[in-house]
Amino acid sequence: MNNIADHIKQILTELPQGVRLVAVSKYHPADAIAEAYHAGQRIFGESKVQEMSTKYELLPKDIQWHFIGHLQSNKIKYMAPFVTLIHGIDSFKLLEEVNKQAAKCNRVIKCLLQIHIAQEDTKFGFNAEECRAMLTAGDWKSLKNIEICGLMGMATYTEDVEEIRNEFHYLHELFLEVKQNWFDQSSNFCELSMGMSDDYQLAIEQGSTLVRIGSKIFGERNYQ
Ligand SMILES: *Cc1c(COP(=O)(O)O)cnc(C)c1O
Repeated sequence: MNNIADHIKQILTELPQGVRLVAVSKYHPADAIAEAYHAGQRIFGESKVQEMSTKYELLPKDIQWHFIGHLQSNKIKYMAPFVTLIHGIDSFKLLEEVNKQAAKCNRVIKCLLQIHIAQEDTKFGFNAEECRAMLTAGDWKSLKNIEICGLMGMATYTEDVEEIRNEFHYLHELFLEVKQNWFDQSSNFCELSMGMSDDYQLAIEQGSTLVRIGSKIFGERNYQ
């Protein structure tokens, strides 16, 4: 097991039906993505708009690009023409800006609300109360060029398996509550994005539908 294709095949054997793999290719070159593409992978996750756009230009057009990074309002326009799913919405303002840019492209962009479930402050996201308040306020319903399709979260970086399990469990409970209270059961609100290289098995056990896996596929990232 020492190449990208093998790593992907291995991970796919571990994913139950209904769980999809986002191959997190940030900081890895287009060649590495091409290798994963040839192994059949189509969903890739990136955390910088500029980097994602450059790769979008270089690579096959049937790739689905997921933006998983922290969103900056002024960069949304660059990805609006092509992004498939934005995982990291953490304010109503961002949702409005995505809506505006999506409208210019005549698109409806799918978005996930990011929820802060970890103990570290460094991670972004709504807390549950803020999320409920935004949904209750209801202004989002008038945004015709975005679609809220689920929730996303990142667990604490820790060896404590119970802590991680509890955080994912909490996010799943919130997902069910939000779906129940603010969305039709037939709506596209059906994605729960949680789980990375070190914790995706726990995330799957707790109901994840999208695992975001980078280093386990592509190796360590070089941040230079
Ligand atoms: C980088 C990143 C990942 C992938 O992390 P790995 O530990 O390499 O699998 C997943 N989700 C988000 C939001 C990330 O920024």
